[in-house]
Amino acid sequence: MLTRIDLRERPVVQLGVRQLAEMLPRAELDVEAAVAAVRPICDDVRSRGAAAVRAYTARFDGVDLPTTVVPRSALANALAALDPAVAAALREAARRARLVHEAQVPQDSVTYVAEGSSVTERYVPVARAGVYVPGGLVAYPSSVVMNVIPAEAAGVGQIVVTSPPQQDNDGLPHPVVLAACELLGITEVHAAGGAQAIAMLGYGTRDCAAVDVVTGPGNVYVVAAKRLLRGVVATDGEAGPTEVAILADGGANPAYVAADLIAQAEHDPLAACLLITTDAGLADRVDAELATQLESARHAGRIKEALTGQSACVLVSDIDAALAVSDAWAPEHLEIQAAGSAELASRVRNAGAVFVGPYAPVSLGDYLAGSNHVLPTGGTARHSGGLSVLTFLRGIHVVNCASDALAGAAPHIDALGAAEDLAAHVRAVRIRVPRSEGAAGPVSGAAGSRSDPPLRRDLRGRSPYGAPQIVAPVRLNTNENPFRPSESLVRDIAQAAAAAAESLNRYPDRDATGLRRDLADYLGHGLSWEHTWAANGSNEIIQQLYQAFGGPGRSALGFEPSYSMHPIIAQATSTRWISESRDEDFGLDTERAVAAVAETLPDLVFLTSPNNPTGTALPLPVIEQVCAAAKGMVIVDEAYAEFARDGRSTALTLLPRFPRLVVVRTMSKAFALAGARVGYLAADPAVVAALQIVRLPYHLSALTQAAARAALAHAGELLSVVATLRDERDDLIRWLRARGLAVADSDANFVLFGTFSDRRAVWQALLDQGVLIREVGPPEWLRVSIGSPAENEAFRAAVEAVLG
Ligand code: PMP
Repeated sequence: MLTRIDLRERPVVQLGVRQLAEMLPRAELDVEAAVAAVRPICDDVRSRGAAAVRAYTARFDGVDLPTTVVPRSALANALAALDPAVAAALREAARRARLVHEAQVPQDSVTYVAEGSSVTERYVPVARAGVYVPGGLVAYPSSVVMNVIPAEAAGVGQIVVTSPPQQDNDGLPHPVVLAACELLGITEVHAAGGAQAIAMLGYGTRDCAAVDVVTGPGNVYVVAAKRLLRGVVATDGEAGPTEVAILADGGANPAYVAADLIAQAEHDPLAACLLITTDAGLADRVDAELATQLESARHAGRIKEALTGQSACVLVSDIDAALAVSDAWAPEHLEIQAAGSAELASRVRNAGAVFVGPYAPVSLGDYLAGSNHVLPTGGTARHSGGLSVLTFLRGIHVVNCASDALAGAAPHIDALGAAEDLAAHVRAVRIRVPRSEGAAGPVSGAAGSRSDPPLRRDLRGRSPYGAPQIVAPVRLNTNENPFRPSESLVRDIAQAAAAAAESLNRYPDRDATGLRRDLADYLGHGLSWEHTWAANGSNEIIQQLYQAFGGPGRSALGFEPSYSMHPIIAQATSTRWISESRDEDFGLDTERAVAAVAETLPDLVFLTSPNNPTGTALPLPVIEQVCAAAKGMVIVDEAYAEFARDGRSTALTLLPRFPRLVVVRTMSKAFALAGARVGYLAADPAVVAALQIVRLPYHLSALTQAAARAALAHAGELLSVVATLRDERDDLIRWLRARGLAVADSDANFVLFGTFSDRRAVWQALLDQGVLIREVGPPEWLRVSIGSPAENEAFRAAVEAVLG
């Protein structure tokens, strides 16, 4: 059935790309001829606006519309009438596409080219984008998803859709297109099609403001109008007839190959389908399958036309030749159904999208893979990619330069300006940094200069995290325990350290079993040492959790404002951070939390309870429902658990039911041991075993283990100090509220209070009074750690002095 092109005797790999491409079939699309036809239409819309659109709509679509605007009620009605199975499928398609396209958004980056001289790349979305959705006999709601989601992920402010009106739908676009718009939250939809719709988007009319970018497929007139308007608006690639290449060896399943060729041909009699194979036997088997499957095909007419027209089976001598043929043809879709398909996919140079192995057919990509189905056709995959968030973003270079840095660059600018005879360029620099005798030579960005180590791109320009280390009489800024360890505890720690010191020539117990047993005993809840794990502060515990369960290609979800190390460690471990917000009162509504988890499918969910910096603890049912909904790990950060008010429960009680739950604790707060750096967790033993893979050997020093165990032996005494701090906290909250300040409920050893239009000024004024607190969390709030009674008194006095 497929025409054979036998290249087995030809030196395929040596042939040039152009020469090879000429041997392969593909339908031509004569856009230039259509440009001549659409030019008067576009010019007319440009000068007469809505009146011209109305006239062409009457002529080409047979309906007279006083306005192109589709009423909102029509959108809602269309969705209400949509088959629920189609609605559910579109929602799932949108969810997957959203995940993929949000991950595409490039991070802003800062590059230091020399000391004091940097270039920041900012990606800024366009303000308004227009999406064209063809109507005609078949309306593709999937096209709405594929065009709208990247624009939305890019952050485009206004997204409008236009689609041809239909006579038999009261002059509205196809109902399934309207339903898809409503489902995706598009509120501005126009009933206009063809070249006049593209001109409407590009030039703007009374009914539709001009857009910045136009995307979406269409017939040759739509393509021609987009070509004509290039320069007025940005557009996506020119979509020609669709095409697939299937690269298959003798092991491929001929039924799958035939089904995918037929699926592609079903789109259009001009669709091009290429089977590229190293096995003539497979070619025969595929032909036989095509004949069988065609008998029951729904659109047999156009399928046959496509398969017997611009389609072929190319026989090649080996897999390298197969890849060379595919790269020369540069297919819109490439399927690889051959041994080592993943490795072959990594060698592909030219293709719109690659589908790897027997279970990734193009049909998956058309609807539900999450990848974009708007892809380069006609060989343009040689130079272009498919539709993506980048279509809707512009990179803006922001150049910063200090005077010394400009002086360093100036000699080079002198030289280049002179070479180009642009003296004013040189002067514009020298007016700022005049030449001086014996001036230092030009600054070079030479490798090894102290200012420019080759830091990972995504980390450049970041500053280290941490509260400002300011010396002040009263320090209430880092949520430490204000009480130093008791004399007897200091003595016990010293003794334990002395004993440990005797064997410091040896590495410590790598598994810290003694400490973990003590921690399990302290936590109770039937936990054994195998359920616990310890590290240098809970920050290191969190880092290990990311290393084991996050990483490149994975994501973590948190509800902010919350502890800022959660996203910071996400970045350091190349885990994508997904930020959802807490409710206005800093709580978290179960339904919203569960919906966020279901929507984003994170590999890790962080729940901080009690939360830092707000102080609020989460009700147990929220944590329970998130555990039930999450597919990945749920990390409950309970750094402040011991400070919770009576009646609050710990997530430890949920551990027996949820093997992917991790409860993180620290000895920094309740145990007054911040300086020793001991954090720990409780989880299923399989989770603890997983963490051993990423921990460094001997990460927890013998001295640390000894100090922590000594402190755990004093748990009773330390917890009574915690009780004092809780009372102090509750007193302070009452006092602040009595002064008319807003104070978040607190289950921790700190209090978030506000609100201040200029919190920086209040923070500074308190510091001027000798009291250092923390400027953290939501913009109008400040956080104060609970200190000793004397320190809290000093804080109150400072507040009175500052706020009057
Ligand atoms: N989690 C939360 C919520 C915190 O506030 C902190 C410290 N401020 C930590 C973890 C880390 O504490 P450490 O590393 O000292 O255990």
